[in-house]
Amino acid sequence: MATQTSKLSAQLAERDERLHRLALDKAKLHQRNGVLTKQAGVATQLAAASKLAGERAAEHARVHMERERVLDEQARALRLQLDETAMLLDAARKRCAEGAAVRGEMDERVRVATARAEDAVAQLTARSAALEATAQALRDAQADLSAARAQLEQRERLGDGGAAAKQVEELRFLLLCSSCRKRFKSHCLARCMHVFCKDCIDDMYTSRQRKCPSCGLGFGQQDIRQVYL
Ligand SMILES: [Zn+2]
Ligand SMILES: [Zn+2]
Repeated sequence: MATQTSKLSAQLAERDERLHRLALDKAKLHQRNGVLTKQAGVATQLAAASKLAGERAAEHARVHMERERVLDEQARALRLQLDETAMLLDAARKRCAEGAAVRGEMDERVRVATARAEDAVAQLTARSAALEATAQALRDAQADLSAARAQLEQRERLGDGGAAAKQVEELRFLLLCSSCRKRFKSHCLARCMHVFCKDCIDDMYTSRQRKCPSCGLGFGQQDIRQVYL
């Protein structure tokens, strides 16, 4: 009996011990469960946070991709503008080169035209000088002519006119009958060829003074001849 009791006591003690250990284990398990629960909560929170972070990252990635797309579009548009600008620049360079060529040609034409104009001006100046010299010579000649005319008029007025009148007088004297000095000579005496007026010869013939008044040579009716001047 005692043995059984001690066995039972031992068994009881052992059971109590096991119960105690079980209780301890349970407490540990409970504690561990709490920890695990906490850890699970933390994990859940972490997962939620991670999910949120993932969503945010996805949003960021989406925004980033959108930005990249926009930037690509802008870059493409800019490349197009750049190509267009390059083409325009090329065309402008070509036009510039053409303009430079045309300007060079125009410059050459202007140079040639200027040279011709300068030649023309030089020729014109030379001709003008020659013309001026000719005009001066003409003016000199006209002045000489005027002076000569003035001299001539003066001579005619003063000296030469008098000489001419004198000459006229001398010729008139030669033409006048040397006997009467009134009428012009019109008849000659054929023997001596002296000339008198008809009236004087008739008077001499009528008055029988039939001798030449100049040389005294006698004459007859047949010697009286008319002269024609
Ligand atoms: Zn006479
Ligand atoms: Zn005579």
